[in-house]
Amino acid sequence: MIHTDILIIGAGPTGLFTVFEAGLLKLKCHLIDALPQPGGQCSELYPKKPIYDIPGLPEILAGDLTKNLLEQGKQFQPGFTLGERAETIEKQVDGSFVVTTNKGTQHQAPIVAIAGGLGSFEPRKPLIDTIGNFEDKGVAYFIKNPERYRNKRVVISGGGDSALDWSIFLADIASEVTLIHRRNEFRGALDSVERVQELKLLGKINVITPAEVTAIHGDNHVEAVTVTKDNQQTLLETDYFIPLFGLSPKLGPIGNWGLDIEKNAIKVNTLDYQTNIPGIYAIGDVNTYEGKLKLILCGFHEATLMCQSAYKRLHPNKKFVLKYTTVSGINGFDGSKK
Ligand code: FAD
Repeated sequence: MIHTDILIIGAGPTGLFTVFEAGLLKLKCHLIDALPQPGGQCSELYPKKPIYDIPGLPEILAGDLTKNLLEQGKQFQPGFTLGERAETIEKQVDGSFVVTTNKGTQHQAPIVAIAGGLGSFEPRKPLIDTIGNFEDKGVAYFIKNPERYRNKRVVISGGGDSALDWSIFLADIASEVTLIHRRNEFRGALDSVERVQELKLLGKINVITPAEVTAIHGDNHVEAVTVTKDNQQTLLETDYFIPLFGLSPKLGPIGNWGLDIEKNAIKVNTLDYQTNIPGIYAIGDVNTYEGKLKLILCGFHEATLMCQSAYKRLHPNKKFVLKYTTVSGINGFDGSKK
């Protein structure tokens, strides 16, 4: 069981900034994210796009904003459970909450901050009946640790940036990389498409288009896939099959936690962004209230007010005095009156 002061569900920009604001108040945070890396939409959907409306930063790439937020929070040593989806929540007799992920990891905290954005991104899966039997047994929808594929045979399918980028990356690691796409044209960045063609000529990536993987074979682990091209079926031996068809956002299990939901978002009050369940807050894109704007800077503001409220909940007898980081620094900052 992982114990913390504030359990943050979602490691997007809002969740990551919460770590810093909570850290100023000497509250420890642990973050759970269904994705294998932090950054939420910024790292999953548009890491290379510039953002122009972060106060004080005229232009910053979304991926760099994520790096900066991680750097800013690092000093407060947050914990991370990545690649796992928060599935259930149970209130304990002492008023705290236990949140369990789809992989069974348990976390206990007196405060839960849902920063789940558009929800957990669910991988789009190919329509192969038996695919569920091979998940974690050679079929993966994310690449968490590329080293796992060292000297292995890998089949990647998909036509977007992720399929192209990982094929390029694994060409130097795996013993054999096959990229399969159902169209002849790829949707990814032009330089990635060109790089794949270069690696194809060098014999480092085997590209099969227009084609689809239509069946998976193996006893306890993937051993081969059937590739269908022009109505002809071929058996291709492989150790891994990685369909990278993109992700679709879903509020998912949080929708069953007894929270007031309106149009797929969690209703909160605008005093401190608490939900209808005391001790559970919802901040960032996941919440809704009159006048809500789904912007990163609004998530930062909500995270700040939420942390002040959480501090008061945890320390009802301490009188709170707001201090500026310029005056107190970040280590000597304690909201309580000495
Ligand atoms: P998210 O970034 O959505 O992160 C939420 C995280 O929660 C995700 O990583 C998800 O996996 C995780 N999660 C959800 N449910 C669970 C669960 N049950 N268990 C575990 N993890 C879970 N905003 C701007 O301010 N300026 C811009 O210029 C701008 N440009 C954009 C461009 C594009 C193309 C897009 C798509 C969005 C843009 N936005 C912009 C919007 C901005 O990205 C969002 O407002 C911001 O990402 C919200 O941050 P968040 O942390 O609240 O949620």
